[in-house]
Amino acid sequence: APFQVVDVHELLDSTLVMLGRKIGDVRVVKEYDRSLPPLPAFAAELNQVWTNLVDNAIGAMGGDGTLTVRTFREGDLVVVEVGDTGTGIPAEVQGRIFEPFFTTKAVGEGTGLGLDISWRIVVNKHHGDIRVSSVPGDTRFQVRLPLSVSVP
Ligand code: ADP
Ligand code: MG
Repeated sequence: APFQVVDVHELLDSTLVMLGRKIGDVRVVKEYDRSLPPLPAFAAELNQVWTNLVDNAIGAMGGDGTLTVRTFREGDLVVVEVGDTGTGIPAEVQGRIFEPFFTTKAVGEGTGLGLDISWRIVVNKHHGDIRVSSVPGDTRFQVRLPLSVSVP
């Protein structure tokens, strides 16, 4: 299937609406750069990426905190940053979180596949990148997507 031309904010908003019940009382802050151009992408797959990141962020906050969804442009890239004020990712596990089946959650609560799938969607299928920075109370995942891509 060819890439679609998608409005990244429409995608993010529909994901946030879909996850409304899970988000519950967590505060949601949107910092969108409304001047971003449309993005060549697979909409359904990017929705899955935002869903995984938001799900992890909510899980790390235990129902109380702030979820920040920020977009901005960096050269030829559109960057979507999902931030949370949760537990943070311990330094000793940060290098492993993208491995398939790596999870710190209880049996039945996590498959350990969310970030593996997200990595494959962003890196392999969209030729982008995912960056993480995390300290307790401030964890950010950046999905970095090129505006010009050669369709495989
Ligand atoms: P799962 O959510 O099923 O455990 P993921 O691949 O989505 O699998 O995430 C792997 C692990 O990365 C999680 O179990 C957790 O330890 C860590 N992690 C991911 N996102 C966050 C976050 N926002 N805050 C804290 N830890 C995180
Ligand atoms: Mg997950």
